[in-house]
Amino acid sequence: MRKLKIIFDKKTCIGNKACMAVDPERWENDEDKVKLVGGKKSKGDTYIFEKKFDDEEAHIVIEGAQVCPVNAIGIVDAETGEEIVTMKVSDKSSKIVEAKYDDKKEFVLDPKGYFLIRVDRKEKKIEVAFCEKPNVVSLTVKGSKPIDIYQIIINKEKLELRKDHYAYLGRELEKAYIALKENIEYVQDDDCFERKY
Ligand code: SF4
Repeated sequence: MRKLKIIFDKKTCIGNKACMAVDPERWENDEDKVKLVGGKKSKGDTYIFEKKFDDEEAHIVIEGAQVCPVNAIGIVDAETGEEIVTMKVSDKSSKIVEAKYDDKKEFVLDPKGYFLIRVDRKEKKIEVAFCEKPNVVSLTVKGSKPIDIYQIIINKEKLELRKDHYAYLGRELEKAYIALKENIEYVQDDDCFERKY
């Protein structure tokens, strides 16, 4: 016999029911999640159940916890305190923000300059020109992959642009890369792709 403590963090559970498949005695369906049978509510969304199991039962209880893909179930030997299966407790202090951005209202031009990006299908390369002044190209970088280009711009040429400008560059480079690979027309600042052939 072995006395085990089962700890279940319902917040972390993603409801794939793998625990139920292995240990239907201990886990029951509960809408989009599961329920720890006999579990008592502890802190937040955590439930605890403690019992003496024979060797065969204990093996199933442990396996039921081990199959959890998100470590929502922890098993502790209630007598020795040994942690048999480690549980990951969801971070309740983490912030979740719904992301929205209005390009037309919130866009602010970087005073350091702007990029002109195009694809060179003959050479199979992406070409990035940087203008410090309107219509005056001060730097041109060519490369096959986005990483080759932005590494040069950030680490070698050290343009020291605003973070959102670098994020913009990454987004446009990825678009240009896909357009080149998939033979789709690339239009800078346009979110739509049009197949070329
Ligand atoms: S295996 Fe884990 S994630 Fe899946 S239902 Fe059971 S506790 Fe939830």
